[in-house]
Amino acid sequence: MKYYNLFFLFNIIPFLTFASKINSCIEDKTIALTFDDGPFKYTEELINILNENDIHATFFINVENYWKDLQNNKDKQKILKKAHDSGHQIASHTWKHYISSDINEFDSMMNKTDSWIENVIGDRPAYFRAPRGECYSECVEYLEEKKYKLIQWDTDTNDWDISSGASYRAKRAKSFLNESFEYKRSNYLILMHDVYEHTVREIVPWIINNKPKGYKFVTVAECLGDKSSMYRTNKVVSDELKKDENEIEKVKETKFENEVENDVEKELKNKNDVKKESQIENDVDKKLQNDNNNEKDSQNDNNNEKDSQNDNNNKNESQNENEAKNIPIIEKEENGYSLNNLSDNVNNDNTNNDPNIYNETNNDNNNYNTEVNTDPMNNFNSNTVINNNNNDDNQGNLVYESSTLSFYKNNKIIVFLLTMVLLKIFVNVY
Ligand SMILES: [Zn+2]
Repeated sequence: MKYYNLFFLFNIIPFLTFASKINSCIEDKTIALTFDDGPFKYTEELINILNENDIHATFFINVENYWKDLQNNKDKQKILKKAHDSGHQIASHTWKHYISSDINEFDSMMNKTDSWIENVIGDRPAYFRAPRGECYSECVEYLEEKKYKLIQWDTDTNDWDISSGASYRAKRAKSFLNESFEYKRSNYLILMHDVYEHTVREIVPWIINNKPKGYKFVTVAECLGDKSSMYRTNKVVSDELKKDENEIEKVKETKFENEVENDVEKELKNKNDVKKESQIENDVDKKLQNDNNNEKDSQNDNNNEKDSQNDNNNKNESQNENEAKNIPIIEKEENGYSLNNLSDNVNNDNTNNDPNIYNETNNDNNNYNTEVNTDPMNNFNSNTVINNNNNDDNQGNLVYESSTLSFYKNNKIIVFLLTMVLLKIFVNVY
């Protein structure tokens, strides 16, 4: 058991130590061309070739390596600036292709390199490749602490090995790459050196012409989906942030506009509601007015009915008198029938909750005038009553004529005597 644990630890430690090393790309169908140890006399030619083919590559540079005067040579520095401004990624490969075992010295040289690069191209690198890919535990911990992306490779052209001649190396490199491209891996992170003529003039042109179809040449940061973090002082990041800020502002403006629109809509709705309410109030007022008018009309009708009723009362009185004197009354029974019905209606109306109606009913000796102000059925009855009353009116006239004639008939002697008296007075005068 004890030996098993030791075996496990020895196997896991290397993975933990080098966990932050990046050996391959992430994005599918991407080819990241990387060039170490420059810049040098072939670098500008390489940049032109890449630019002519609309290819972005990555340069892991040294400040003091093949060119010893790069640190102070503005013309040579312009090559790096040109590469940067063309869209190629500029990353650190140490000051002089060397990593000190003294971590403080290493830190000092890393900062010196990055500051120099930043001074030349305007951006401070966030990507790093160790010389020969050799970065052990302390180096990795330091790079992790300083948030560097430590880049390795997965496709090595071995272009640096010219022991058998540059032509041989170029031929071997092309053969190796041809075989590698036939596998059509998801992506390729290819290691080269722009300090060699055969690399710039033979290998790179061959790669451009023989890459697998559908693959795109990109920078390392792009092949890792990390373009915005290419530099620590990244204009791309700033642009992205600015873009995001603009989008946020747009969203805010849109939101504000929507809110204003909503407010306007709400206000309009409120206005409409108020309008509707006032319309409803007006309608209610109108309805009430109409009801009052109807009430007044009905009241007038009632008054008419009262008048009719009074007439009828007078008629009834006459009828009673006539009955007492055995004078025949036309359609007496029909009147009586109508009146009885009216009385029934009045009795029904006593259940009406309206106190005015109830009072009217009580105050009205004839009662049936309180037919009004009830439901449509009662109104219908009221109309019926009015019609009946109209009939009564007609009948009343007949009764009136009949009673006048009967007066003369029943008082012949009195009339005769009065006539004689008036005749005597007339004779005496003349
Ligand atoms: Zn190197």
